[in-house]
Amino acid sequence: MRIVLVGPPGAGKGTQAAYLAKNLSIPHISTGDLFRANISQGTPLGKKAKEYIDAGELVPDEVTIGMARDRMGESDAADGFLLDGFPRNVAQAKALDESLAGDGLALDAVLDLEVPEDEVVKRIAGRRICRNDSAHVFHVTYNPPRTEGVCDVCGGELYQRADDDEETVRKRLEVYHRETEPIIDHYRTQGLVVTISALGKVTEVTERAMEALKRDAAA
Ligand code: ADP
Ligand code: AMP
Repeated sequence: MRIVLVGPPGAGKGTQAAYLAKNLSIPHISTGDLFRANISQGTPLGKKAKEYIDAGELVPDEVTIGMARDRMGESDAADGFLLDGFPRNVAQAKALDESLAGDGLALDAVLDLEVPEDEVVKRIAGRRICRNDSAHVFHVTYNPPRTEGVCDVCGGELYQRADDDEETVRKRLEVYHRETEPIIDHYRTQGLVVTISALGKVTEVTERAMEALKRDAAA
């Protein structure tokens, strides 16, 4: 399956993607995680992306689209993938559609996670991620690690993302409404959008998502 996860920052895309990718046996591809890995490795791409990420802005399309395409071209993604954080504007969505169509492929579903803004603000305020791998995500009260400050998965140090401060979050939410929400309409015209509530326990949301994807595939 080729699936796009969409939803505001803090909706739980990365958290759900980890479970959904495992259940569906497809790789989880997060452009945010790819940028953070490049930043921690000090690559030229990471250096370029950092200034935009720190400001809560989108990294320019010419950098992002190539990076996402390269990742989707890796062998583990040949039979499907779960995209998290990409596409993030209509130009990226069109580039993705064209790139898939060029290979005779198409998306199967766009899973839209709905969460009220006050809840995403609380989720982001308590988010802690792992230095070794930013796909290892915790929350100080909603999903605490067994030992404070230590990643349950790999023992790495947990830290708060620099762009999770209040001012940058406000900016990221504004960018989400202006740039990213329009992709939902873009994909709605293609009949691909499945909307679910992302409120409730992580396991409940995963079950809801799996049910919705099954119903969509059967329809
Ligand atoms: P996104 O990838 O959409 O930005 P994350 O998956 O990083 O969001 O989740 C944001 C924060 O909310 C994390 O700290 C995560 O542990 C927490 N979280 C995710 N899903 C839930 C949930 N269903 N209930 C409470 N907290 C959640
Ligand atoms: P995320 O981890 O998805 O919250 O992304 C963190 C930051 O990375 C975003 O605020 C953007 O600055 C940048 N980013 C991630 N994905 C994209 C994308 N598809 N297009 C542009 N910028 C992105």
